[in-house]
Amino acid sequence: MKCDLCKQEIEETFLHKIKGSYVKADGKKKVVCSECQRKYKDEVKAKF
Ligand SMILES: [Zn+2]
Repeated sequence: MKCDLCKQEIEETFLHKIKGSYVKADGKKKVVCSECQRKYKDEVKAKF
């Protein structure tokens, strides 16, 4: 799975949880890595 912002591959834990989070933007589910999450915080949605 790739981050929709930086396009980097997102690591998954052994339970198949991603090291990042899902953001709903434009009615679509986007994936954001923890790095971008930290970088953009509440502005993440506005980036899409
Ligand atoms: Zn990212």
